[in-house]
Amino acid sequence: MLRLPDYFPALPDFPPGEVWLAGAGPGDPRLLTVLALHAVAAADDIVHDALVDVRVLKLARPGAELIAAGKRGGRPSPEQRDINEVLIERARLGRRVLRLKGGDPFVFGRGWDEASALTKAGIRFRIIPGITSGLAAAALAGIPATTRDTNHAVVLAAGHRAEDGRSAGDWEALAKLGQPIVLYMPMSQLDEVAASLQKGGLAADTPAAILQSATMESERVVESTLANLVADARAHGIGSPAIVVIGAIVGLRQRLLAGLVGWR
Ligand code: SAH
Repeated sequence: MLRLPDYFPALPDFPPGEVWLAGAGPGDPRLLTVLALHAVAAADDIVHDALVDVRVLKLARPGAELIAAGKRGGRPSPEQRDINEVLIERARLGRRVLRLKGGDPFVFGRGWDEASALTKAGIRFRIIPGITSGLAAAALAGIPATTRDTNHAVVLAAGHRAEDGRSAGDWEALAKLGQPIVLYMPMSQLDEVAASLQKGGLAADTPAAILQSATMESERVVESTLANLVADARAHGIGSPAIVVIGAIVGLRQRLLAGLVGWR
């Protein structure tokens, strides 16, 4: 268990029958929050995403049950209902249930679906935010989300259409904002998204970067431009998980590289 000094805020009890929806951060176990670490050590059941590092799961207490519930792009939505059911059933059995997700649970993480299902079922739950991969990947690569000189906003956008077609991404409209864009889940429709952003007015030579497996051993950073994104992703054999950042902020990276100590 975590031992913290007396002046530190007390960590909450994890009552039986409660569900905690927590973010595990972008990958590296050291980027867990203190609360998420506490939750991992206290839970009876940990229902985790595919992207959660095994070294995090190893911090579970002996006897805790680990349940893989990874939703990885392209699967049909009934699976989400199954995950909700597992959370509800386990809570009703009086287990302390930790739902552990990559990044932040409320950023493209279906945390809301789960929280609302729990609410409907009358189950008490707690949200533990996590460091979202889009902002962490950018920061670690030396790309600031904002600077006073470049932008007053940053857009976190889905880089593909929802599989059920409910939310067609309107990337042309995002381009018109003239603010940098951080794309989650960008690889499957990168050509379409890059074309839409150009149609919406972003210059072909807008700086862009592909950040694969940020914080992990297989981490890769590929600098490119909006027009060359697809070709460069292919040339470098980029795969999931990856974040794409587009905008002037990407161009600032080179100015930091001389001093920036490697993350790992
Ligand atoms: N809730 C998560 C996002 C889930 S959607 C969060 O807040 O980070 C899954 C997408 O997250 C992936 O397709 C990828 O775009 C991104 N992602 C997650 N971990 C990543 C990592 N370590 N490096 C790069 N992208 C990552």
